[in-house]
Amino acid sequence: MATPQASSSRQATSLSADAGSRDGLDGLDILAIAAHRDDVEQTCGGTLLVQQSLGWRTGILDLTRGEAGTRGTAEERAAEAEAAAKILRVSHREALDLPDGNVQNTQENRLKIAAVLRRLRPRVVILPYWEGRHPDHYTASTLGYEACFAAGLSRLDLPAEHGAPHRPYKILYASLYADVRPTFVVDITPHIETRLQSLLAYRSQYGTQPTGAGLFVPQDDIRERTFATARHYGLLAGVRYAEPFVQREVACVHDLMTLPVQSI
Ligand SMILES: [Zn+2]
Repeated sequence: MATPQASSSRQATSLSADAGSRDGLDGLDILAIAAHRDDVEQTCGGTLLVQQSLGWRTGILDLTRGEAGTRGTAEERAAEAEAAAKILRVSHREALDLPDGNVQNTQENRLKIAAVLRRLRPRVVILPYWEGRHPDHYTASTLGYEACFAAGLSRLDLPAEHGAPHRPYKILYASLYADVRPTFVVDITPHIETRLQSLLAYRSQYGTQPTGAGLFVPQDDIRERTFATARHYGLLAGVRYAEPFVQREVACVHDLMTLPVQSI
């Protein structure tokens, strides 16, 4: 994080409603942004646990509140998201009010996200991968990137109370939803069980129930799917369980002797 801000800047505003700080911290090291509550749990929750265990302050920004979901109300999903946040040990989680199922890359929405970025000042931002089946996911990717850019502009049309201009140093794309070869994976082996529990916190989504039974995976299958996917990405790098990421930049290596992952 950078400069701590006055606690008054944390007040929920029309740009950042439904905000809640878990421990009163004024800044984050890593912020995961996703379209829907439970996206982060499915794509990079293990990585947030890894980073938290290393001492970094992590957080989640959900762009929508799940009001269009087949199962559960927005209120139920808010309570579930809070429970999942506790399990993932994030320092902060909040949700914006973009319409679920209709996330659009507009200046209004870029400003909403930029306000959060200026307040939380993360060094690393994790976005959804930029291609996918769900329009909200790939739109959130571009919207999130452009909001990261906008947040650094000194002449952005945002009140000063949201904080000074801030642009994250690193933007990563969580690619678990996408059929794409990752740039790297994060070993989440010690955290795979906790990551699963964070997903199961969304009981309205994953509890075995008749509503939407044809659309949703029964809870019995969640464990197998979660572990199988993580195992697949782990195998790519010679670890047990992992989550995949794409970065646009070429990585720079300072010592060939410390490169991980055995070749043959
Ligand atoms: Zn989603």
